Amino acid sequence: MPDFLETEQEKTVRAYLNHFARTEIRPRSLEADRMQDIQPDFYQAVQRSGISMEMMPRNPGSRSKEGEQREHTTLRLSVLASEELSWGDASFLLSLPGPGLGGPPVSFIGTPEQRERFFAIFKDTEHPHFGAYALTEPEAGSDVAGIKTRCEAVNGGYRINGTKTFITNGSRADWVVVFASIDPSLGRAGHRTFVVERGTQGFSVGRRHHKLGLRANDTAELVFSDCFVPEENLLGGRAHYEQSKEGFKVAMATFDSTRPLVAAMAVGIARAAAERARELIEERYMLGRALPRYRALREALDDMDRRVRAARLLTWKSAFLADVRQPQSRAASMAKAYAGKEAVLICREALELTADSGEVPDPFLEKWFRDIRVFDIFEGTAQIQRLVVARRLFEEIGAKVGL
Ligand SMILES: Cc1cc2nc3c(=O)[nH]c(=O)nc-3n(C[C@H](O)[C@H](O)[C@H](O)COP(=O)(O)OP(=O)(O)OC[C@H]3O[C@@H](n4cnc5c(N)ncnc54)[C@H](O)[C@@H]3O)c2cc1C
Repeated sequence: MPDFLETEQEKTVRAYLNHFARTEIRPRSLEADRMQDIQPDFYQAVQRSGISMEMMPRNPGSRSKEGEQREHTTLRLSVLASEELSWGDASFLLSLPGPGLGGPPVSFIGTPEQRERFFAIFKDTEHPHFGAYALTEPEAGSDVAGIKTRCEAVNGGYRINGTKTFITNGSRADWVVVFASIDPSLGRAGHRTFVVERGTQGFSVGRRHHKLGLRANDTAELVFSDCFVPEENLLGGRAHYEQSKEGFKVAMATFDSTRPLVAAMAVGIARAAAERARELIEERYMLGRALPRYRALREALDDMDRRVRAARLLTWKSAFLADVRQPQSRAASMAKAYAGKEAVLICREALELTADSGEVPDPFLEKWFRDIRVFDIFEGTAQIQRLVVARRLFEEIGAKVGL
């Protein structure tokens, strides 16, 4: 059975990150949302604090020998970290320097040289560096197999053409993991995965998206126009893709390892909203504890608290399974689907319970109401998570009855 007791190290990290979120993130949160950007002084605070993406799984699920020990202890810690920092502001967490979603594919199939080369940049703690992950296209979001970005083998490498959209940290990434198809008629088997570095000719940043929530975090369109990428940047090398669907598998495996983190972020925001609603209601009914209305509100608040805890349990379970190297695709999708959906509802209820005559009761509640919306969308929408869960269930049933 999963051991959900926190170790001393986890307790220390959680307390430290909560302090950081409270003192360095929350005070900057509303202004960053308004400016749709995070000011450089935050990165100085990050540098002073020693917080890094190392707390996030740079290589979760990696098959690399050198990574094994670290990963074993990391995903669970990362989930704790993800909740605490998102409790402060999820945009800030997403904007922490590091490889981000680009990390897992490089770890999964990158050669030792590629891992060394692309991760080396993050050793420079003086300046923030970012990686990114570019799969989504204007015409292909959930339908990952339908990507239209083309890669054509040419002398010494590949030529990439296409557009990627909604790429987290896209406009400031030092490198981007890009998924392209060698031949769309091959479907998933035609997918190839590249690392494209900033400054590569033919690679440019299009518009920065103006979003409803998570506004302080950079999300951009990336354009590849006859962009030549050398052979060394094909993740895993050519042999890796021969007679396999490795490119597609990499895209999916990334999600299995990062969905628990996204679920934890949703838990962090929902917890923040539930706590804030409770504070406001306790304040407002200081002298009205006996009122039936107060009791009804308390019941609603307790219900929100229970759902936050349930979402956290599912999230921890999926992290636990990953840490002990058990299949966790179903658990990760369940956690993501449940946490995403409940968090959206909880943020809405927090706003509704505290609003007086339709006025916004608190700028944070209004912001979290906007921020949380995307947790039902990115890293696979709620419907897609349910499809994954259903598929895994049928596989299990099929295996049991010998289908
Ligand atoms: C803030 C933000 C950051 C993002 N960051 C990244 C990033 O870093 N890298 C990246 O590659 N992408 C990123 N994305 C893109 C994100 O992953 C996609 O938006 C998401 O996968 C959904 O794709 P879509 O928007 O094209 O919606 P669609 O796939 O067009 O879906 C539209 C609706 O149809 C439903 N639907 C689609 N297919 C099915 C089906 N088969 N069965 C049932 N229902 C279905 C969906 O659930 C959804 O409700 C980001 C998006 C946002 C908003």
